[in-house]
Amino acid sequence: MAELQISAVEKVYPNGFKAIHGIDLEVADGEFIVLVGPSGCGKSTLLRMIAGLETVTGGTIRIGDRIVNELEPADRDIAMVFQNYALYPHMSVYQNMAYGLRNRGFPKDQIEQRVQKAAGILQLDGLLDRRPRQLSGGQRQRVAMGRAIVREPSAFLFDEPLSNLDAKLRVQMRVEIKQLQRRLGTTSVYVTHDQIEAMTMADRLVVMNAGVAEQIGTPIELYDRPSSVFVGGFIGSPAMNFLAGQVDTDGRHLLLGNGARLALPADGAPAEPNRLVTIGVRPEHLAPAEDGPLRFEVELVEHLGADTLLYGEASAATGGGNGDKGGLVTVRLSGHHALAMGTVLGLTAEPAQLHLFDAATGRRL
Ligand code: ATP
Repeated sequence: MAELQISAVEKVYPNGFKAIHGIDLEVADGEFIVLVGPSGCGKSTLLRMIAGLETVTGGTIRIGDRIVNELEPADRDIAMVFQNYALYPHMSVYQNMAYGLRNRGFPKDQIEQRVQKAAGILQLDGLLDRRPRQLSGGQRQRVAMGRAIVREPSAFLFDEPLSNLDAKLRVQMRVEIKQLQRRLGTTSVYVTHDQIEAMTMADRLVVMNAGVAEQIGTPIELYDRPSSVFVGGFIGSPAMNFLAGQVDTDGRHLLLGNGARLALPADGAPAEPNRLVTIGVRPEHLAPAEDGPLRFEVELVEHLGADTLLYGEASAATGGGNGDKGGLVTVRLSGHHALAMGTVLGLTAEPAQLHLFDAATGRRL
């Protein structure tokens, strides 16, 4: 077991492209960290640097008490689980799991003991003689996990390990991986671009954007207090709504571009009057209210069973605005609601559920 320390790590690829711009991250012993972000943000680059598959061009990576920048992957005491599982097709499940240990010169009885133990944990006992092509996607994924487990490494690194599985199996495997990690207590870094996977698996998340760590925190911290428009829009499903607006002269209300006036929390410090802001409000925090400050016209209804999603245009409920339409808004109602297209609702939001960001920088105010 080990902690992992990433200090001011940078990556400049040989062609001069800077993919990682100075990331700091401390992963505690036994912690499950998820790196999440859109395609191209640098998640795989960072993971591959930890693994030793990419050189580190700035900063240091420490695993336990060793700086590993210059160490070969095999000497880092980590095990990596890849998206394509990287199983040897001509070897049995047993041989695939034993391979790494054999290469390291482990005695036969110890290999046998470790493989059997991992097979038991992963419920692969009856499948040890099969070839990978005789396994389902989920079973292959478990073999890839088994190969990592038998090494008893100080850290696991996962590179989108579930992306080749269908939706149902992904959910099942993400629970299995999380439970397994808890049970083994092995420090883990997990890369995904799927924010639901990230939210459900992580002890803490690192939301990456264009080579920087935008925010690091627990799933609930990121959901409740996103540090930027980027994080607010990335974490949470359906995505947070954003409306352009301005703080009113009293510092206690917001004036939306569409003319609506929304109250800010009465107990907090007043906001800077006249400041231009982007207002974030999650679909689940908009509620129908007859006299609500927003007028919402339903354009599309999606029935998810447990929830109903409404899509439409939000504008000011009362006159006095500039008449602009407010932009598209998503509303999430729990339960089933049979609403016809064109239905007009009043909407309101709890002042405490409004997120304020600087209009120019996108940073949280
Ligand atoms: P994805 O989810 O699509 O896998 P990612 O967040 O894992 O994306 P990386 O693969 O780490 O992103 O890539 C980060 C950036 O570095 C991208 O802009 C990519 O084009 C660039 N990049 C990756 N490998 C190289 C390379 N060998 N040379 C130059 N640039 C590269």
